[in-house]
Amino acid sequence: MSFVALDPLDVAGRVVQLLEAGRRNSTYKLATVMALVDICVENATAPDGSLMVPIDEIAHRVIGYYWNQVRSFHLHGRLAQVVRGRSIPDRIADARDVLLRDGLRTAEAAREACHPVYQRLVRSVRLTMAQQPLTHLQSVPHSQIRDEFLFDAAGFHKKMTVSDLDRIAVIVLRPGVPDGLRRTSTLLRTFVRSLWAHDVIDLNRAELDAEDIDGFLFGADHTALRALVDPLRDLQSGRCFYCDDRLTAEVHIDHVVPWSMIPIDGVANLVAADTRCNLDKSASIPIREHVTRALERESLSDVSALTRIPVLHKRTVSAAQGVYAALPAGSILWRSSGTYQPYSP
Ligand SMILES: [Zn+2]
Repeated sequence: MSFVALDPLDVAGRVVQLLEAGRRNSTYKLATVMALVDICVENATAPDGSLMVPIDEIAHRVIGYYWNQVRSFHLHGRLAQVVRGRSIPDRIADARDVLLRDGLRTAEAAREACHPVYQRLVRSVRLTMAQQPLTHLQSVPHSQIRDEFLFDAAGFHKKMTVSDLDRIAVIVLRPGVPDGLRRTSTLLRTFVRSLWAHDVIDLNRAELDAEDIDGFLFGADHTALRALVDPLRDLQSGRCFYCDDRLTAEVHIDHVVPWSMIPIDGVANLVAADTRCNLDKSASIPIREHVTRALERESLSDVSALTRIPVLHKRTVSAAQGVYAALPAGSILWRSSGTYQPYSP
């Protein structure tokens, strides 16, 4: 993939996009981004604006973030941070018990003391970080596309071994990336923390019995939009707006430009989609053709008259223009289930 030098201020936008696309099976990507931000804030870049980051350093940071998080959460015990399997936090919790017994109360203290249990933990965490978030951070979910604007991830893969990792040992953040992460660090930290809290609530839903607070506060009210199912299905001749497959009983009302970017319920931005397309697209920004096609539909005012949900055509047009105008070139846009394409203004 050819590489275009990135404006530092576009870096944050691209990172946000990477984290918004698709569902996460763990909080590791979030921990990785947090580590990169912190490392960039604390370290000077090379003259060309790049920064070499030892993977060990990422592992130390990640252990530091999870160190407090593996404490028992009230009566619920340790909170899950992965969908399944033995996790990095599990390993940290085990090591932490030993280290606490040896009087080492913080991750930094254990690191300073070069305690063998801590050193073994770092080796194990760095391998998982390399196999998972460092391999996948820049790939678009459910596709072969890699958007390697942060660092060259050639050589990273999910089955890499300790000797592969020893050979690589560092990642080099591309020129402009460290500066971009540093300049937007306050925003990015806030954003990552909010996604992280949200993921933890999601992963522990059964135990916490927590509602989706963020979705409730900031998400669309899909119940209010149920009235659109029949009229939109009719308008689309019973087919999914995106893939043209025949709609089954389970019809989703999808915001073409995601609600997180245009938080308005106008028929002009709403379509009927099947489960597959709707879940795969989730909060991704679609290619412009979908938006154009949605806006060019006829009979939107009939749908609006039937449901008393306004069309809001003009508002949707100008909001969509704003969304695409703010997108950095090269941003990955959703085309259809599992396929994406880079944005060119
Ligand atoms: Zn579909």
